[in-house]
Amino acid sequence: TLSLIALHASSMAACTTTNGASHKIPGRVGDGPIPGSGSYVDSTVGGCGATGDGDVMMRFLPCYQAVESLRRGYSPQEAAEDAVRRILAKYPDAKTGIVVVDKGGEHAAAASGWQFSYSYRGGGMERTEVVMVRPLKVDE
Ligand code: ASP
Repeated sequence: TLSLIALHASSMAACTTTNGASHKIPGRVGDGPIPGSGSYVDSTVGGCGATGDGDVMMRFLPCYQAVESLRRGYSPQEAAEDAVRRILAKYPDAKTGIVVVDKGGEHAAAASGWQFSYSYRGGGMERTEVVMVRPLKVDE
């Protein structure tokens, strides 16, 4: 999966593309193209990109949830963790990865079930930074 969240001045955009799950059922759509699941953005608030067990994650619209959490005052870290924990509460073994960026460019991620990473690069940066995300456990 490749999720992209772009921020320029007061404009934001987000998209997600994926090859889909391995051994998927022919015709399966997956979570990537579902607005609010694979990605979501509201330029007045922030944006989100997600990947993982798409058939589980799309039931929770985790990117819509995370952006709405930002709107209610959560930090990007709190919004990402909350979105993952909502999934883990029902599917403790779910593989998830969620990246959240607010309209000011603050970013964070949460994940479960695997070693997830994301990268970022801003206007004044000379190279891309990679962030390794420690997977959350159900009981922490
Ligand atoms: N989230 C994708 C899907 O379920 C899988 C992936 O690209 O890792 O289709």
